[in-house]
This record gives sequence, structure tokens and C-alpha cells, in this order.
Amino acid sequence: MATRRRATQPDHPADAGAASDAAIAAQRDADEAAPGVEPGDDSLVAGVARSRGGFMARLKGLLGRGDPDTATWEEVEETLIAGDIGAALALEVVEQARRRRDPGGPVSAVRSELTALLVDRDPGWAPHRAGPDGPAVILMVGVNGTGKTTTIGKLAFRYRAEGQTVLLAAGDTFRAAAIEQLRAWGERAGVPVVAHAPGADPAAVVYDAVDAAVARRVDVLIADTAGRLHTKSNLMDELAKMRRVIDRRLPGAEPEVLFVLDATTGQNGLAQARAFHESTGLTGIVLTKLDSTAKGGIVFAIERALGVPVRFVGVGEKVGDLLPFDPAAFVGALFL
Ligand code: GDP
Repeated sequence: MATRRRATQPDHPADAGAASDAAIAAQRDADEAAPGVEPGDDSLVAGVARSRGGFMARLKGLLGRGDPDTATWEEVEETLIAGDIGAALALEVVEQARRRRDPGGPVSAVRSELTALLVDRDPGWAPHRAGPDGPAVILMVGVNGTGKTTTIGKLAFRYRAEGQTVLLAAGDTFRAAAIEQLRAWGERAGVPVVAHAPGADPAAVVYDAVDAAVARRVDVLIADTAGRLHTKSNLMDELAKMRRVIDRRLPGAEPEVLFVLDATTGQNGLAQARAFHESTGLTGIVLTKLDSTAKGGIVFAIERALGVPVRFVGVGEKVGDLLPFDPAAFVGALFL
């Protein structure tokens, strides 16, 4: 999406947003001032500290002892499984790494194999816009408690800081608290929220939000959705209806469907992701709470299982703790 900077943003209560933008800009300037450090990389390095000190430290310890024997490779496999990569994938990584006879040694071999698990992506990715003036539409899906609302708030801050206008849609009408939580984030980020009463039809909320986004020439519309478990088929029907409304009101919108996955839920989260992907067609993943897990291997597992890229990672509870996912920087931070 082309970044369109605007001198004024009449739709927004400027104060809260402007103050936050200044804070984010100051942080960015500080990052840029550090020689040799890519902006954001130190947050990523800190964000994966537990994984680096957990399964990765063990992995490097095992492989750093020289030429590994079969028993050592078996331990490497177990360590990868302990890091939430999954049993089948851990076996595959080890087999390929052994076969590789990497001149850089076994650590380099495993690193290359792990990197190869991540899907190819366009580094300049931005959510698809419905035409030059139409908004980009993002549907945030995932089960309750994964950090969906917090991520919507963080994204709103991020896009605002880039000079884009943002509108939020309170599509989780199932829980009154979800609507209130989204309104609170809207206030903090200085972006308007389209909401209906609890219990209202979420597709109607999205309908109004799309109309408002078009009328106000908003750049990014982010819609919350109900976070009931994927086993409830009515949730999937609800999501399908929202998508139909978007398609009808905004032909060519091609909404991003971002699945929010809590990194601490490990292989259970993977099962949720598969179910959502089968019924709604996910276009990206936001992996939250990467800072809280020592098992960051879930990144490799989810990308490989779904063939869908991780777009952002959450590395804390603050607004700035959402980083665009860069595969090379991620692997680099793990192997540091
Ligand atoms: P929702 O029910 O999916 O909307 O989840 P919430 O957005 O309410 O988040 C649930 C909890 O997870 C809150 O306490 C958040 O502060 C916390 N949380 C969200 N993202 C992150 C993250 O990236 N790291 C950490 N440590 N906590 C997070």
C-alpha cells in the first residue's frame, strides 16, 4: 500500500494520536541512531530472548561440540520438538541437515534448513487496497485471549504513525467487553471505531464500517471478529457473511484475513490455525506473545503447515511491541 501522508486528519481527535505518533517517531529515531543496528532489530533480539536462551541454546550447545554422532543428532531432533517445531518437521530438518554436509558446520546446516521452512514473501508487503482510493481491509480472526484486540490497537498505532488514516470495526458483537475494549484502543490510538450494540449482526457492523471507510477515504479498515472456538460452525458462517458483505460493498477489496496466534499455545494453536484456514482462507498470521515463550519454533511449524506467511510478531504488551516479521532477522536473532 502506498503511504499517503496527510497534513491534517480531520476525522481523528488529534491529541492522543499525535502524542503517540511523536513517541513512536522518537523511538524510531533512537533505533536509527544505533550504528549497524537495523531499526526494530533490537526489539526482535529482545523479543526472542527466551527462545534463544531455551531450545536454541541447547541446540547450539549440542552442535557446537564438533562432528555430531547419531545420538547427538537425535538429541537435536528432541530439542527441536521441545522448541515446538513438531515431530515430523524436526525429523525432516535433522535428516536434511545431516545430508547437507555444510562447509559452515552443523549449526550452519540446521540454520539453513530452518530458514528454508519459511515461505517466500514480498518484503514490501502491505495490505491490498480496493483501488487507488479504496481502503485496505483487514479482518482479524482467532480465538479469545490470543491478543487479538491488543494487536488491532498496535496495528492502528503503527499505521497512524506511518501517516495513514485508520478505522476500526467492532465486529465481535458477541461480547460487550470486546466492543468496549476496542473503543478504548480506538481512543488511545486516536482512531474512530464503528460499533453497534452487543448482540448485533457483525456483518451489519462491517457493512457500516465499509461505507464509513469509503466516505471518509480511510486508508486502512481493521475489523475485529468474534473469538469463539473454531469448532463452532456459526462463527465460520459469520466470517463468511462478513466477507460477502465486503465483496459486495467493495468489489476487488481482497481483504487480508490475519489469524492471531498465541505463540505460547504451541501445537494446539496450530490445530486452531488449520481449522480457520480451511474455512476462511487465511492470508497472514500474527504471532503474539513471542516474548513469553521459550518455544519460538512454532514460527517454522505454522508457516510450513499453512504455507501462509507470518506478517507480524507481538513481543510485549506495549503499543510499539508489534514488529513486521522479517524471516532473515528472525532466524538471525535466534542464532545470535
Ligand atoms: P483477545 O481476547 O484475543 O482480544 O486478547 P487481548 O488483546 O485482550 O490480550 C490478552 C492478553 O494478552 C492481554 O493481557 C495482552 O496484554 C496480552 N498480550 C497481547 N499481545 C501480547 C504480546 O505480544 N506479548 C505479551 N507478553 N502479551 C501480549
